[in-house]
Amino acid sequence: MILVQGKGVSKGVVRGPLYFFQRPKTDIQKLTVTDVEGEKARVAAAREKSSEQLYALADKCREEAGEETAVLFETHAMFCDDDDYVEAMETMIQDEKCNAEYAVKAAGEEYAAMFAAMDNAYMKSRAADVKDVTQRILNNLMGIAPGGIDSEEPVILCSDDLAPSETLQLDKSKILGFALSAGSSNGHTAILARTMGIPAICAMGADLKEEYQGRVAYLDGETGQVVLDPDTLTVQVFKDKFEKQKAFKELMATMKGQEDVTLDGRHINVYCNIGNPDDVAAVKNNDGQGIGLFRSEFLYLAASDYPSEDEQFNAYKKVAEAMDGKRVIIRTLDIGADKQVEYFHLKKEENPAMGVRAIRICLNNPDVFRTQLRALYRASAFGKVAIMFPMIASVWEVKECRRACEKVMAELKAEGVPFNPDTEIGIMIETPSSIFVAPELAELVDFFSVGTNDLTQYTLACDRQANDLGKFFDAHHPSVLRALKMAADAAHDKGKWIGICGELGADLSLLPTFLAIGIDELSVSPSAVLPLRAEIRKSIAKTCTLDALYKM
Ligand code: PEP
Ligand code: MG
Repeated sequence: MILVQGKGVSKGVVRGPLYFFQRPKTDIQKLTVTDVEGEKARVAAAREKSSEQLYALADKCREEAGEETAVLFETHAMFCDDDDYVEAMETMIQDEKCNAEYAVKAAGEEYAAMFAAMDNAYMKSRAADVKDVTQRILNNLMGIAPGGIDSEEPVILCSDDLAPSETLQLDKSKILGFALSAGSSNGHTAILARTMGIPAICAMGADLKEEYQGRVAYLDGETGQVVLDPDTLTVQVFKDKFEKQKAFKELMATMKGQEDVTLDGRHINVYCNIGNPDDVAAVKNNDGQGIGLFRSEFLYLAASDYPSEDEQFNAYKKVAEAMDGKRVIIRTLDIGADKQVEYFHLKKEENPAMGVRAIRICLNNPDVFRTQLRALYRASAFGKVAIMFPMIASVWEVKECRRACEKVMAELKAEGVPFNPDTEIGIMIETPSSIFVAPELAELVDFFSVGTNDLTQYTLACDRQANDLGKFFDAHHPSVLRALKMAADAAHDKGKWIGICGELGADLSLLPTFLAIGIDELSVSPSAVLPLRAEIRKSIAKTCTLDALYKM
């Protein structure tokens, strides 16, 4: 029996083959070939396959995401057959007797550089499209499956770590679980796994070996264990776990349709965190009563260029309509730190978590901000949309955000475009600074939502991405809980409500503390809704104490 131990970051047990994620290769060597025609034929076949994939994607988009994205994929498909682009590759193979991979890469880079050097902003931005198409042709040449998984049956996906943008592009129906040698519980890949309800383990280290590819294993996302070649006793243990998991799911299903209310009548709004419009299905399945955090940056992470106003509007509208009048809190772009987007060309920073990220990027790039705000206000005509700004540290930032909102509303009004002028505006409480100025901030907004992942990181000066900080990264620390209480008091003093949308919101052991503090809303991953509801319905709010705030 082989047991590989890591840190469980998303609960659940699964059994299936291990599959190592195929990451596109970037170090392509130039080789000398003799069969020039053979190499040209390989390029032609890879182009044809790419074009077929892109037309299929365009059809899928036309049904699911709207015309604009569909047209983008069709343009990419046509580019696979662009005469000059094809000639550049073939001439290189002919003249330099080089391998197909090298010729595609070199021709793609040359084309992308040519577009990037153009004066016209539209043409400049086409460089990203060329890079995208070139990478797809290269993947097809090298037999790397789109989305990194080439398997008919669902697998336990193994990797060192996955960037949030990579996780987003995976075909979820093919993934039973994640086993990562690196990563941390508070990083965005673990957060995405929980949002998708997929069991996951990180920090497995070098014991997770590529030679295990294809071997069937058990994975337990709670204990953090992957087991290969289990002995009879272990097989029995996992059999029991599967049965318990099934029974728990059945028990939780009885919570659907029940109210989120304590035994003494305190109502809590139990909402969900999502990363893209498709996650709404899981929200509905788990009876979430609203969306407490739509991480809109995942639309940017999944794209190869700035998503247009219409693309964003379609995504927000889809969620607002699907939630049918229930509150949908959409957070404006929060990139930087571990969420890197190539086309933003963010400068490399010494301390990215404390650098130009989140609201700072929006305030520094008014056009990017305006596009998103226009899409958000347009979507506000189709449901109960609320707008939330991340990583606020200062009062002036909120004032500037509000001015940007006013400007966008005035524009839409002048254009006769419908929107809800009373759209709620909230901020995330994630920095110690926002706690200290919470009374002033509360005057400017409709609600607070506490991002405990970042609040813990900044309050304790502990990197949320690092998996070796162990006991030092302690979200139960009295300073974090006291910060929560200070923010709640400031909000309630001004008649505003406060929620938690960080991972701590789903921590059932802290529910009595949240009730004692007076938290009004908890936003958790969809799979955490029903267990939270069950716990709320067993609680008596008035007997809850603030003891945890004084435990040193
Ligand atoms: C948080 O920081 O707690 C939060 C919800 O935002 P994110 O995890 O996306 O940074
Ligand atoms: Mg955050």
